Amino acid sequence: MTTELLINKLFSDAHQIHSADFFEQLYPERSLQETAIVSRFAPSPTGFLHIGGIYTALINMLMARQSKGVFFLRIEDTDIVRSQKDTITLIVNMLLQFGIIHNEGLSMCDNMLKENGLYGPYIQTNRKDIYKSYIIQLVRDGLAYPCFLTTEELDNIRTEQRLLKMKTGCYGPWAKWRNARQDEILEALENKESFVIRLKSTGNGIKKIEWHDLVKGHIAMAENDNDIILLKSDGFPTYHLAHVIDDHLMKTTHVIRGDEWLSSTPVHLQLFNMLGWAPPNYAHIAPIEKEEEIDGHMIRRKLSKRKDNEANILFFIENGFPEKSVIAYLLHLMDSSFEEFYKNNLDYKIDGFSFSFSKFSNHGALFDLDKLKNISREIISHMSIEEIYNNALLWSNKWDPEFAFLMMEYPQLTKMALNLEREVQKNSKRFTTWKDIKPKIFFIYDELFNEYKISSFPENINKLDRCSIIQDFLNAFNKDITKETWLSILKSIAVKYNYAESISMFNKNKLNYKGHIGDIMMLFRVAICGTTGAPNLWDVISIFEQDRLFNRLNSIASAEL
Ligand code: GLU
Repeated sequence: MTTELLINKLFSDAHQIHSADFFEQLYPERSLQETAIVSRFAPSPTGFLHIGGIYTALINMLMARQSKGVFFLRIEDTDIVRSQKDTITLIVNMLLQFGIIHNEGLSMCDNMLKENGLYGPYIQTNRKDIYKSYIIQLVRDGLAYPCFLTTEELDNIRTEQRLLKMKTGCYGPWAKWRNARQDEILEALENKESFVIRLKSTGNGIKKIEWHDLVKGHIAMAENDNDIILLKSDGFPTYHLAHVIDDHLMKTTHVIRGDEWLSSTPVHLQLFNMLGWAPPNYAHIAPIEKEEEIDGHMIRRKLSKRKDNEANILFFIENGFPEKSVIAYLLHLMDSSFEEFYKNNLDYKIDGFSFSFSKFSNHGALFDLDKLKNISREIISHMSIEEIYNNALLWSNKWDPEFAFLMMEYPQLTKMALNLEREVQKNSKRFTTWKDIKPKIFFIYDELFNEYKISSFPENINKLDRCSIIQDFLNAFNKDITKETWLSILKSIAVKYNYAESISMFNKNKLNYKGHIGDIMMLFRVAICGTTGAPNLWDVISIFEQDRLFNRLNSIASAEL
């Protein structure tokens, strides 16, 4: 049997597949400056977008953008069992939401996924013929071969290798089909046995392959001598083959990916070499980690999809973290000097900061929710009230429509409530997330006041006093008075009911008083805001219309009778 005959037997559609040369010609060189970086984010759409995915995408985008290069999105969905179509949409939407904009690949257009760019398809399952074309070439060149080992045979091989304390894999005497006779192959094909295509590895496990990783530095690892699978029995390529072909044809200059792929790099370099292509630069970035106590020891481990809520990007969205805060936090993880930069660049233009591979942390960065919260408070505190209002409204619209409705019903009051304390204490760090806003300003809405009030009145003011104090206040107060007059009203009320008009007076002679001015203030704070944790009382009073304030105080005064 000739090789051509074998190829036709392996792939019944081989005659319809373009030659590898055709694809070489199809994709032009990119006309970019020599220093321009072409990078990509290549997620597998398996139902979830990990915060580490946003981190990787962000680094890829920034490095390309900074060098006036190209950043593209490629969907790696060749694991047919695990891939989910909905996740592609999720990924595209999330990248957009976080401001990670790609130059090529998939985007949403009129609620439909659309591709743009000259190097597509950008979804791997649509590139089946491209992979097949190169597989045919490799088989033709004697660099790949069909293997009919069954799952059971592979299990036995693995068990035997483990018993012999040898590394597992398909190599040496275990690569049974590597040198199979053509009649054996023909017979297996005629029996319709399922097969994979394996690499006929030329590597020598005793020798080392060396390269420079842009983040990890000089690396030396054993050459690959394993006949790894290139094409699976379902006709889709493995990650190894797809990565090499795609990044070659798409003219990627820098493969910036998680360092879980570092150990596979010898295979990738080998494949580039066997196909006669120059490999890209590799930058393996350390994962985001978490510390966990196991048997009394603090262990660092990767943020886990299974164990940690914050591994899922939706965690940050649901909890109302501004995208800007998450991005600033990730940039801080990438390069700790970014924090200093953004504190001095509050208009928040990332592009002013120069990122470099050599400054990326080489070991896993520790995820720290408190740090993210700090950054977020800082970022929100520098937003304008309009920006806070618009973002909080957008978030609430999705996650708390009842609150969004109130924000829209009372836009001016809401903005004034958001502004509380900012004027007296410029840039007060009052809000950490959009979710945080409702429990902090709920009291301004009559519709939420009764439902959400949490604090009770000071215990040292009895019911009768409470009611008369509020009544006296209502008799003396109107919206035109000054802060000083308001204070003097409260003080005279305090004196009338035998509460010290200052805390120092109270402390000098506690037995003479029922309490002090602070208790009177607290009574009004709870009456008006429903919580002891509300902002400065005078500031709150000044944003309330008189009617709202009087209705609230009246209802409490009458409820107490
Ligand atoms: N699909 C791979 C992953 O999600 C991509 C790795 C790469 O960037 O090459 O891990």
